[in-house]
Amino acid sequence: MDGLQDIYAQMGIGKKVYEYGEAVLEKLAGRFRGIDEIAEYNQLKVVQAMQECQVSEACLLGTTGYGYNDLGRDKLEEVYAHVFHTEDALVRPQITCGTHALALALMSNLRPGDELLSPVGKPYDTLEEVIGIRPSRGSLAEYGVSYRQVDLLSDGAFDYEGIRKAVNGKTRLVTIQRSKGYQTRPTLSIKRIGELIAFLKGLKPDVICMVDNCYGEFVEVREPSDVGADMVVGSLIKNPGGGLAPIGGYIAGRKECVENAAYRLTSPGLGKEVGASLGVLKDFYQGLFLAPSVTAAALKGAVFAANLYEPLGYDVVPDASESRHDIIQAITFGSPEGVIAFCQGIQAAAPVDSHVTPEPWDMPGYDAPVIMAAGAFVAGSSIELSADGPIKPPYAVYFQGGLTWQHAKFGILRSLQAVLDKGLVIL
Ligand SMILES: *Cc1c(COP(=O)(O)O)cnc(C)c1O
Repeated sequence: MDGLQDIYAQMGIGKKVYEYGEAVLEKLAGRFRGIDEIAEYNQLKVVQAMQECQVSEACLLGTTGYGYNDLGRDKLEEVYAHVFHTEDALVRPQITCGTHALALALMSNLRPGDELLSPVGKPYDTLEEVIGIRPSRGSLAEYGVSYRQVDLLSDGAFDYEGIRKAVNGKTRLVTIQRSKGYQTRPTLSIKRIGELIAFLKGLKPDVICMVDNCYGEFVEVREPSDVGADMVVGSLIKNPGGGLAPIGGYIAGRKECVENAAYRLTSPGLGKEVGASLGVLKDFYQGLFLAPSVTAAALKGAVFAANLYEPLGYDVVPDASESRHDIIQAITFGSPEGVIAFCQGIQAAAPVDSHVTPEPWDMPGYDAPVIMAAGAFVAGSSIELSADGPIKPPYAVYFQGGLTWQHAKFGILRSLQAVLDKGLVIL
């Protein structure tokens, strides 16, 4: 197209990077069509839920104070339950982030003497302190909840024998992390999650299966709750908030599990009845409505990044041709300089704060310095174009998001330009 390359040049993308990017993109038409089809299905699923629940204009308004009889809040929770095909849901601005939603689901459904099992290896970094893997005040360990972990086998398969041995009379809840998080293991497909849950329920029918659904929502046409999960948990500043939710988390699942969480979030006896929605409902609804297409944009970005970096000799997870089960793309640079250049390139492509330079820092909840690139409309939102990498071996960067495909593409090209400018790669 006339002028396209010119405006890329004005935005700091040289001819070499631009042309390399176009050559990579030419091969991706089929992949992108598949992503669009999933988005189409999920768009209808969300609209169907909103119609069945009869969302009305009045639902978009909020309450203050105690928030009794908050029509929009209650209806939104009904919509989430429809989308996830669960009995109930808790969707609240009072849930401050994904870690909080997960901690809430765990702490409200476990009792002293119970055991928590992760059959998919180490959970997300911030959950280590929630569980007490790294000692912390108020952890599950401090409340007498023990923890057991079974790692994936070296080929990424479930260690069914190990899991069979780990499940015991105390095992009350199993946590299954769908996304790879800050690891380079493969993300779990819905099919694999379903197989794992079926195996666990076969061993112990009353065990609660919880899935950490962060980054996985709307990537496939089914969710973990469609394959037996008792609870799915996630953050609204990732996929399901569609880039519009300014805060929040959700727990969708069996009525009893959700009620336990509500009693813990507010207070025993009060549960879901209180909690003013303030002014966020319109953004929660509209964000959910946009989430399938925003997730598709982010997925296209991830596929593009893998296909751009893999031929240059970098280890990418998932690889260039693999099917996708979350929106995260890991790229291993093998050096702090690569991670830093990549993140600085992403930052330079942002609509907000493009003029600042991110540096590694000691973030609460993480055990190594982390560099984060995010020039987002919602602070820290990782459905928006963002990248982060812990400064520790193997020096991998985790890239995700992009509210539009066009912006994701620009950000990825800008990252490659930064890596090229640092002399870390030759095109
Ligand atoms: C992001 C994430 C979390 C934690 O969410 P925060 O909002 O950062 O607290 C937990 N698990 C996974 C897999 C995640 O990706």
